[in-house]
Formats: sequence, C-alpha cells, structure tokens
Amino acid sequence: MDLQAFLSRRVVTPEGIRSGGVLVEGETIREIVTLDQVPPSAKIVDFGDAAILPGLIDAHVHINDPGRTEWEGFETATRAAAASGFTCVVDMPLNCVPATTGVGALEAKRAAAKGRCWVDWDAWGGVVADNQQNIIRLAAAGVRGFKCFLVHPGIDEFTMVTEQQLREALPYVAQTGLPLLVHAELPNCIDAATKELEKADWTEYPTYLQSRPETAELSAIKLLISLCREYEFRLHIVHLSASEALPALRAARLEGLPVSVETCPHYLHFEAEAISRGATQFKCAPPIRGAENREQLWNALKDGTIDLVATDHSPCPPEMKRFAGGNFRTAWGGITGLSVALPVMYTETHARGFSLADIARWMAEAPAKLVGCELQKGKIAPGYDADLVVFDEASEFQVTPERLHHRHAFSPYLGEKLKGEVKATYVRGRLVFADNAFHGNPEGRELPA
Ligand SMILES: [Zn+2]
Repeated sequence: MDLQAFLSRRVVTPEGIRSGGVLVEGETIREIVTLDQVPPSAKIVDFGDAAILPGLIDAHVHINDPGRTEWEGFETATRAAAASGFTCVVDMPLNCVPATTGVGALEAKRAAAKGRCWVDWDAWGGVVADNQQNIIRLAAAGVRGFKCFLVHPGIDEFTMVTEQQLREALPYVAQTGLPLLVHAELPNCIDAATKELEKADWTEYPTYLQSRPETAELSAIKLLISLCREYEFRLHIVHLSASEALPALRAARLEGLPVSVETCPHYLHFEAEAISRGATQFKCAPPIRGAENREQLWNALKDGTIDLVATDHSPCPPEMKRFAGGNFRTAWGGITGLSVALPVMYTETHARGFSLADIARWMAEAPAKLVGCELQKGKIAPGYDADLVVFDEASEFQVTPERLHHRHAFSPYLGEKLKGEVKATYVRGRLVFADNAFHGNPEGRELPA
C-alpha cells in the first residue's frame, strides 16, 4: 500500500503541537514520527512551517439536496467545505425535499449524494410533530442523531414541535442513545416581541435583533434541561447565540446531565453594532448579538461550557435575501460561510491568545464525539482516517467571491480581511483541495455505521 509522509514543524496532535511527520498508509494514519524516523520508502510532502491539523468536522450544514438544489447541493457544499479544511459534514434534515423525517427520505438523500461529495458526509434525522414512530427506524437506518425545532423553522414541510409533541418523541430518542439537536428558541417570546415592533423600521438591524430576544433562547434551554433530566436523552443545543443562557448550561453540566453546546463562527466574529441598514446577509436565527455578548461566548468556549463550533451554513438564492428592499422581516434567515470558517476562527483566536490545538478540539475532536465517529475521525492519531488540513498561519487574505465555492457567491464574510489560509485538504489520504483549486474526483462517502 502507498506510504506517504506529511512533514511539518507544527503537527497538531492530541498530545500537543510538535515537529514531525504524519505517516499515512492508504487511507489511514499509521503513526506520527520524528523527522529522522521517516522511512525512505515514503513519498514525502514537506509543508515546512505550515501547520497540519486534523480534518475538521462540520456537524451543522444545510445541503438542501435533494429538492432545493437551486439553494445549494452536494457538489457545491462539499467543495466549500474542503476549501475550509472540513473533511466531513453532517447534513441537517430540513430544507431538502423530502425532509429527512423517514427512512425513504434518508434513502433519497443517499441516492442524491452518490458520487457528488468532495468530503465525507452523514445525515441527521428530523423529529417533527408527527413522526415519533419513525425515530427508531431512522436510527436503525443509520442517522447520527436527530434535530428538532421549538419554533417555526421558516419552511412548512418540516414542522416545529410543541412541548407535548417533544414529550411523545423523547422516550424513543432516549432509546436510540443518539443525540437530539435542538433549535432552542421559544415562539411565545418572539411573537410578543415582534408584536411590539409592528410599526418599527425593519430595514434596521436592531429591529430584527429586538424581535428575537435572549429570553427566547433562555426559556427554551431551561425547558430542554428539565426534559433532559426527566427523559435522560443526550441533549445538544445548536447555534447558541444568547450568553444569558450560559449560567443555566453551566449548572446543567455541573449536575452531570448529558448536555453539549455549539456556537457558530458568525456569533464569534461579527457584532450587532456594526451591521448596517438593509444588510440582510447577516440575518440568521437566533440573531448575531452585541460585542459584549460575543466576548461571553468566547469565555464559554474557554471554560468548556460551549463544546464545539459548527458553521450552520444555510444558503438560499440571492432573491430570498431581499437585498433590494433590505427588509430583515421578510428576508430568509441563514448565514453562508462554510468555505472561510477556519480562517475566521483563526483570526479571532489569534487575537485572543488561543492556539491551533483549541481550534482542533472545537472543530474536529468535539464534533466527532457528537457525530459518534470519534474512533475514526477528529484526531491526528494512529489508526484514524488520514483527514488532514494544511494551514498557513502567516498568510492573510481578503474574502472575494472566488473564495466562497458554495452555489451563490454572497456572504456576510465578503470583504473581510482574514488571517491564516488553508493550503491543502486531504480526505483519507487523497488531496482534494490545494491553493484555491480542487483536485481528483468527488470520492467522499457516508460515514460507516
Ligand atoms: Zn441550521
């Protein structure tokens, strides 16, 4: 079998950042060796001062395929992923048609993905108002866990769940042992706030921000924590934005409840104060909040209250962003930034004194645990998939449409000046991306059961 040796002064391993060579046999990491131990038979690729990180895992992507391929699709989403060092993405069960709420829909997704993925992938199943009977079947068919919404998700074919409907589903979810990922905002808080804003100017970002107050997240999270205690299922809070919810989450973890938390690069990079009138490319739910809130999210990453970072890449055609009118009420909510997530995170961590090892923990190791592939992916270690990102910390660039790679080249990150650049991405030992171009064929595959 082919033996390759990837050399770097900065290999990010679970034991720390060190100089050495990653020996790759076929699709698998054989071992990490010092430079003088590299076997002469190996094909050597020397990356010098550029770091080698484990391939990143994005546990929260909306690929929208099959069914809404005019929004995104497997080819474009997985290319954007590879450009940011992601070697595995997990697709959300909504915005595709059919939504992944039954086994037939999962099979349709597998058929759509075949031969079109540049990185490895897998799928979350959906828990909706009336599919409790499908939960065990979906688990048996291979989903990695489930996603539900406590608030209307913006499209009609994926229904939100009320507390009662969730209670009907939770015994089945707990039985599977798989995590339940929850969009944690309660509609009553949002409806009440929105009613007060009927006459407000919806082209102003603060209007939208006020319509989705922190209490909507906090009250949802409190409800979920009590349900977690009662039903003993694995609870995962997706895209946490409100720092007001952090004390409740800290307390739940101290209590020993199986709760994990994710936030997203856009909550860690942008600030509400700087979002201009009509700039609906910044609209997402829950919303981007103020600079002070952002710093609290960073503190929570530091102390471990937040486990991981996922992109929540949620694209749509440009018309749906209503750029002409700039109305935050009618524009589609969703941020596109999959292909720049790693440089965005590096830019922010560099300014705050974190290291590449922290990024590897938040964007590879912790998501692997959530997805249940932690024995195969998420680390540079013997026996693991040879998923590697080569990252040049010294490089800087400005985000242009050519850097985006997803279907529609708009994003709130356009024009941002970022530090650090992905030089190459390897999926199971094969080069798929280097110097802003793609190599080989789309040979990504679904994670094994
Ligand atoms: Zn999402």
